[in-house]
Amino acid sequence: MPPTAAPPDPTELTRIQAELEGAEPLAILGWAYERFGSVAIVASFQAESCALIDMATRLAPAERVRVITLDTGWLPPETHALIARMRERYHVPIAVWRPDPAAVDRMEADHGRALFRRSVALRRLCCEVRKQAPLARALQGTEAWITGLRRDQAPSRCDTPVVEADLANGGIAKIAPLVRWTAAQVDAYLERCDVPRHPLYAHGYTSIGCAPCTRATRPGEDPRAGRWWWEVGEPKECGLHPSHPARRPAAAETAA
Ligand code: SF4
Repeated sequence: MPPTAAPPDPTELTRIQAELEGAEPLAILGWAYERFGSVAIVASFQAESCALIDMATRLAPAERVRVITLDTGWLPPETHALIARMRERYHVPIAVWRPDPAAVDRMEADHGRALFRRSVALRRLCCEVRKQAPLARALQGTEAWITGLRRDQAPSRCDTPVVEADLANGGIAKIAPLVRWTAAQVDAYLERCDVPRHPLYAHGYTSIGCAPCTRATRPGEDPRAGRWWWEVGEPKECGLHPSHPARRPAAAETAA
């Protein structure tokens, strides 16, 4: 594994953020592969990450399209099948990162296997052990990571920047090429480019994560309503993405 790369200068990221705000996903991804030597797409294998993998293979040689995925131990079998299908289709390296077994054993000995149903705090602990900690390890030596976040996915994602410093992972660049796209635009891309699609969408799922924490949604429900659906009033986030809610004007701005 290469040594940890120096994070980019925050002022550069602020400038680039402004420059790329109106850019199309391919242009944003193209900038990322030109600017950084070590780029990783962090994929959940929902529609967005499949679109990004397809786009990346149009911009960079397959060996540079490094994909990281987090196998929490609770993924539905359909996700594992799609990972195999994407490997076969694109011939890109997909590294599967798993949680530290000792940390999982400790957590489950203390709180039980289904701790995520007991309280929000324990659900967050499970996400921390099974997702955040493996991601931090997976990103060692990476200069920039790509995420499929879109602003209209959730109130907590309204102001997601195109590029930001990921302070939870040493200040490396975190890039969201699809921020301005809608779900319909992503779907149209998959259709147009014949990109494989997660089978659970055909069963009413509109957001897909770990099996025990995800259910299909009903017509009219928020697309992320099926994630941790028993929690009330909590942001539908697992901790990989800090909230970027719509910025409220400061009192002075409101008064002006
Ligand atoms: S989504 Fe559920 S099972 Fe998956 S890591 Fe978070 S709490 Fe644990």
